[in-house]
Amino acid sequence: MNRDKSIRIGVAGAGLLGRLLAWQLARAGHGVEVFDPALDEKPSFDGRQAAGFTAAGMLSPLAELDTSSPEVATLGWRSIALWRDVVSRLQSPPRFSTDGSLLLAHRSDLGSAQRVLARLAGAPADTPRAEPITLARLAELEPALQGAAHAWLLPQEGQIDPVAALLALHAEAPAVRWHWNQPVRGVEPGALVLDDGSRQRFDLVFDVRGTGSRPDLPVRGVRGETVWLHAPGHGLARPVRLLHPRHRVYLVPRPGDVVLVGASEIESEDRSPVSLRSAVELMAAAHSVMPALAEARIQRLDVNLRPALPDNEPHIESVAGRVRINGLFRHGWLIAPALVEDALRECGLAPQARELIHE
Ligand SMILES: Cc1cc2nc3c(=O)[nH]c(=O)nc-3n(C[C@H](O)[C@H](O)[C@H](O)COP(=O)(O)OP(=O)(O)OC[C@H]3O[C@@H](n4cnc5c(N)ncnc54)[C@H](O)[C@@H]3O)c2cc1C
Repeated sequence: MNRDKSIRIGVAGAGLLGRLLAWQLARAGHGVEVFDPALDEKPSFDGRQAAGFTAAGMLSPLAELDTSSPEVATLGWRSIALWRDVVSRLQSPPRFSTDGSLLLAHRSDLGSAQRVLARLAGAPADTPRAEPITLARLAELEPALQGAAHAWLLPQEGQIDPVAALLALHAEAPAVRWHWNQPVRGVEPGALVLDDGSRQRFDLVFDVRGTGSRPDLPVRGVRGETVWLHAPGHGLARPVRLLHPRHRVYLVPRPGDVVLVGASEIESEDRSPVSLRSAVELMAAAHSVMPALAEARIQRLDVNLRPALPDNEPHIESVAGRVRINGLFRHGWLIAPALVEDALRECGLAPQARELIHE
């Protein structure tokens, strides 16, 4: 494809990938139209919105090695650098930081924590490693955390505020035509087929419908539940994970005195509200390492489905006139910018994307 030529691009899906693509491609001068079943660009927190809105926004290439491949870690480290550039281009930037994250374990859970740390030791060469820290150092870094017996710092891991980022990518791409309440039934090379059967023709189309890409892709949804706690003056600065034999619980500071606690991981496409069991277990685990949360107020319970392919790995499928990106699973925020960069390179548009990011 001629990189100097502006082309017409259709995007099916206005979630994380859809907005990142639209924002980048519109800045590069292409004519971009995005279609999504949502009623508007805002989060609805009803379990049916883009998974991107529900996510904690942890950018954890090292911690994700517990359950994912070194390739995901490599995409993650690349993406953190790319997010820094994207955020610096936004006039209303979301909260973004790379001050590291923490892993904690209670005394009785040291064995399971060591098994997790052994998996983290498979990190790609020349990338940061988990560093054990003393409880005195933990108290210096995060005075609000008390009760854990063991702690590790994961240097340079980061976080981004997903809701603010998705809203900014939409608001700051005014040249894009956003078609809300418009589900796409089929994505053909060079055309999007809408629910009424009409075909919208483009030079290039992207299928980034997440779990909505079925049956074209063998994607499944993996249920995840989160709790938003309002805790004025909580003081937490970094994402924290609690290593536990039964729960993978994390606490993430958010603007507005909020601590987000997540997340269950259930092999189910149930989008119904958060269960009592998940809410109790998540909050009890969070309270066990951050006692000040006892007086927090429960602001929101949220649920969504992570889009996963059978091997739980991300995939880009590119043919003339169509690109599909899917399988971002539990680390979409971690890897989306690098996947977008790779996808644009495959269809000959990468130089423009590079230029706009590194202009
Ligand atoms: C509880 C939870 C916590 C998470 N925490 C993290 C985290 O800390 N860090 C991290 O990196 N990742 C996290 N994730 C994962 C991340 O949110 C996902 O990987 C990411 O959102 C996937 O991006 P996507 O664009 O593929 O899909 P989505 O963000 O789900 O977007 C898909 C879009 O497609 C639209 N769509 C659906 N059907 C159609 C159709 N027929 N036509 C047109 N559009 C359609 C949807 O409305 C939606 O807007 C978490 C996810 C969950 C659920």
